[in-house]
Amino acid sequence: MNKEKTLTPKLIKKLWLAFALLIILMGASYIFITGYLTLNYNEAITQRMNADVANHVIQEKFENAAPFLEDGTVNKELFGDLMHDMMAVNRGIEVYLLNKSGDILYSVVLKHNENEPMKSVTLAPIEKFINTEGEEFVLGDDPLNPEKQNIFSAAPFSIDGHEGYIYIIVAGKQLELISDSLFGTYFTKLSIGAMVLTMLFAALIGILSIWFLTKNLRLITHTVRKFQEGDLDIRIANPEESDIEVVALSFNKMADTIVENMDKMKSVDNLRRELIANVSHDLRTPLAVLKGYIETLQIKKDTLTELQKEEYLQITHDNIDKLSSLINQLFEYSKLEAEQVTPIKEPFSITELSHDLIAKFKILAEQKQVQLQLDNPEENYMVYADIGLVERALQNLIENAIKYTEPKGKVTLSLIKMGKQIEINITDTGNGIPVSDQPFIFDRYKQVDNTTKKQGLGLGLAIVKKIMDLHDTTIIVLSKPYEGSSFIFKLPAHQLQ
Ligand code: ADP
Repeated sequence: MNKEKTLTPKLIKKLWLAFALLIILMGASYIFITGYLTLNYNEAITQRMNADVANHVIQEKFENAAPFLEDGTVNKELFGDLMHDMMAVNRGIEVYLLNKSGDILYSVVLKHNENEPMKSVTLAPIEKFINTEGEEFVLGDDPLNPEKQNIFSAAPFSIDGHEGYIYIIVAGKQLELISDSLFGTYFTKLSIGAMVLTMLFAALIGILSIWFLTKNLRLITHTVRKFQEGDLDIRIANPEESDIEVVALSFNKMADTIVENMDKMKSVDNLRRELIANVSHDLRTPLAVLKGYIETLQIKKDTLTELQKEEYLQITHDNIDKLSSLINQLFEYSKLEAEQVTPIKEPFSITELSHDLIAKFKILAEQKQVQLQLDNPEENYMVYADIGLVERALQNLIENAIKYTEPKGKVTLSLIKMGKQIEINITDTGNGIPVSDQPFIFDRYKQVDNTTKKQGLGLGLAIVKKIMDLHDTTIIVLSKPYEGSSFIFKLPAHQLQ
């Protein structure tokens, strides 16, 4: 009982675990992406806003005032003054004067910098910045912070034939310090807020989706359990609408098969019981006859004439034959039914076999005044089958044909080649089989005419059918009441090399 109950919770636990992992992963990526983008966004905005700073310095300040380069030498005082004015407005900036090759000629930075500035910077980002007029987000060397790339503004200058660049780090150490501390608090708030919200929504969605996802599974589990408890009629309603359609359909099919097989087994069981009851009845009749005649012979042995004795002995003999034939039939049928017979297929002449059988049944046919003949006896047809089983099937069919044909009637066995098969046809001019009974005559123990005296166990055609099954072929019956019947089947022809 416990084992059954763990199925769903185990699955739900796993689903929850997967879900929690997904949320944590999503949260982490969310925080990472947000942090990264916010940082880049801030830098891009700052750079765009300060794009013109360097240009402005050159345009407005230096061109109209005294030049900051005199004979190629930096007028440190003038440059320093002007820059400090700017830094008073924006404390985040660091200003560098570069020559054409990117060497730092002079720098104006806030004091208290523990790092020694770099001697030169890479020119490629500066050129890119100037070419795109500051429209594109580009990072350049930060002389005070060699490991880091930073946003900047830059502009070229040319004074007395001396060319170079004004290079301004717009978010220098100072800005970095301020932004780091601000970003830290904002970011923490943002992360916690985002995480809490995400978790809340995720948990809500999680509960709902797990409930929906497992809804069908719960229904299936419930149905399977009910079925196991004996409710054989229970099925999963609308299986094609189920999320796990294959399982639902398979369960319904499996349940149908189980019920079908159970019904089959029940009917097999019923038939077996019926067979045993009827067989014992059929065996008892000749036994009773035997007993009667033997007793008469014993009691009246002195008064009976020789002729009478002879007649009584013949009757006992016939009944013993009948008994042994019934027992043989029963034995044969039960072997076939239990699938204990494996056909041993080999090539043989069906024509020769037919000749032999005609000869064997000639006397019986003559006794009944029935004409027995083989059609097309000249052709020698070879088939590939189990000779013993085919002989048995033909025997039963010929025997029936003679049995159910009135005197002056005719029984014909014909062999016809049809492509790669030989068609075997046993036709009689007997009393025929009613159309309504034709589908059942191959079922064991079905005797069509219940009013007439039973002439056999009703196993003859059931044996024939089993033999056909073993040869992967079928037998059909064409019959019209009072006109006759034809039993037709095909066997694979054996090609002579
Ligand atoms: P049985 O031992 O009664 O002959 P079978 O299985 O051989 O059992 O045949 C089943 C029933 O089919 C017979 O009882 C008979 O009613 C019918 N049947 C079989 N062969 C013929 C035939 N050639 N002509 C008419 N009826 C037949």
